[in-house]
Parts: sequence; structure tokens; C-alpha cells
Amino acid sequence: MTVSRRIFMRGAVLAPAALAAPALLRLAHAAEAESVRAPTTPQFQRRMVGKIEVIALMDGMIQRPKEMIPGYDEAKASAAAKLAHKPHDPAAIAIGINGYVIRAGGRVIAVDTGSPAGLAPTLGGWHAALAAAGIATDEVDTVFLTHLHPDHVGGMTDPNSGAARLPKARMIASEADWAFTFDAGVYASMPKEVQQGLDMSRAMVAPYEAEKTLITPGDEIAPGLTSVAMPGHTPGHMGLRLDSGRESLLIWGDLLIAPAYQFANPDWGFALDTDKAAAAATRARVLDITATDGMMVAGMHLDFPGFGYVERAKQGYGFFAAPWDYRT
Ligand SMILES: [Zn+2]
Repeated sequence: MTVSRRIFMRGAVLAPAALAAPALLRLAHAAEAESVRAPTTPQFQRRMVGKIEVIALMDGMIQRPKEMIPGYDEAKASAAAKLAHKPHDPAAIAIGINGYVIRAGGRVIAVDTGSPAGLAPTLGGWHAALAAAGIATDEVDTVFLTHLHPDHVGGMTDPNSGAARLPKARMIASEADWAFTFDAGVYASMPKEVQQGLDMSRAMVAPYEAEKTLITPGDEIAPGLTSVAMPGHTPGHMGLRLDSGRESLLIWGDLLIAPAYQFANPDWGFALDTDKAAAAATRARVLDITATDGMMVAGMHLDFPGFGYVERAKQGYGFFAAPWDYRT
């Protein structure tokens, strides 16, 4: 998988900055322009959490400037990457993007949907991965959104036609994030580039407006599936906890964006965190709880498939990838 400097400069998915209005038109053009470049190979991985089946879907990866981590320190970053056995590029942060699909009690629930096709040639693989996993788009009955950033809502809507790509799905989002994303005052107060990101998020969720449920994090969305408040990255950012039998999994959304660095330096935030202090407090709390309890976690920006365990380390925390699940 190659990522050119041009993409690195242009990459907009994790920072709404480079999106020009109208966002959907730009997406369509980008898709055409990039169509000759190799897409991400479809990748999925299944595992069980008790009787619940969870399928990780790879959307792709993108490189973002290291300046998106406020307080980034090169010596600390390279040391953290070395400890974690991660590749380290002093010029850019490699960020994977995942989605998850849950089969439980006859339901098919997508937890986030990747980034919009065409934003970069190394992104937008969510739908191909879904198909490779043998799931038809009209089987998905629910989309649970950890938050509404473009790299989480991108698979919902066709950028060319504006039609829903998950035609039978009902959308679940947090009330706080919905209010933030659609608030006219918030929108007016934002710089142009943030407005463009909001335009994209709004367009991607628009076809689902009539079929949405807005919740307060903490609500159970289905038997064994409970939303968890994790504010900071966005006002209503939430995770999803799965419990079945003796097993559990916490899908933590964007608790971490740059795992190579933030496990070891959990005080490092990310430029897109709406409330950096709240995000840092949430990160500290969730890392402490998951390390103490030994609960399996998964995350949208953990290296694919993202299933693993948080461990206390000499410096901050470490991540131990989950073993292969032979039950699937
Ligand atoms: Zn994200």
C-alpha cells in the first residue's frame, strides 16, 4: 500500500480541512480521479464474544501530519513506536481506519461505516470488506455511530447519488453529537474547513434522518450491547460494550487516534478532539479501567483488526493484540 506525498498533503478524512464545498461533488470528482489507483484489498476478521459475532472491517489507512498531535515530541514518539514494535515515520502518522459489524440475536449492527470512497485511494474499503465478509448491504438493520466525523459515517451514503447505501438500516447516534453537528450557531462559529467537514457528515447521515434514534450514552441498544459515554473527542462520543456469557468487548471508537504513540503517551491528544481536557480525562479513565479489568477492546484507529488488551507499561500503557479466535 503506497501513500503519496500528494495524498498526505491532501488527506482530509481525519481533518475536515481539505474538503471543498459542495463536499459530495468533490467526493465524486475525487473518486473518478483516483479510480486508476489501487484500492485497499478487502479485509475482514471475525471473532466471537460469547454468542455475539463481531466482524472487523478494514476501511484503509491514511497518513496525517505529526502536527495533529499537540505537544508531539520526536524523541518520545520514536521511543514509543520502538517499544510497541510499530513502524515510525518522523514526517507523518499512519492511521488505520476500521469499522465493526455485530451479529447478535438475529440483528446485524454496523458500528461506524468507514470513510467516504474517493477521499484517498487507500481509504473507502469498508463496503468491499463488508461484501467479502458475506454481508449484503440490505442485511444491516442498524448503524450505531460512535460519533459523526466523516471517517465514521462515510459508508452510509453514495456521494454521487446521495442515496443510502444501507437501505434498511436505522441510525443510532448520540443526542449531543447530533445537536453539535446540526447546530446553526456552532456551524457559523467554525472556520471554513471545519464547516466543510460538517457538511460532509451532514450529507452522509441525511438519508437516515427519518429513521434515527438519538440516545444518551449509557443506554442499552440491544440485549448485551450497551453504549458507553466517552466524551471529549466529540461532545457525545461513545463506545459500545458487548457482553455475552463470560466474555466482553469494548469498542471504544476514537479513544485513541495514533496508537503507536498515545498508548505510551496517553496525555497526547489529537487536533480534532473538540474538548482536549475531556478527551484526555476519558482516555485516562478508559485505559485504566480496561487495563485493570483485562477487558478485550477494539477501536476504529487501532491497527487492523484492532482486537486486543491494554496493559500497563513502564511508560503509560501498551497494547497486546488478541489471539486468533478459532471458534469462527
Ligand atoms: Zn476517527
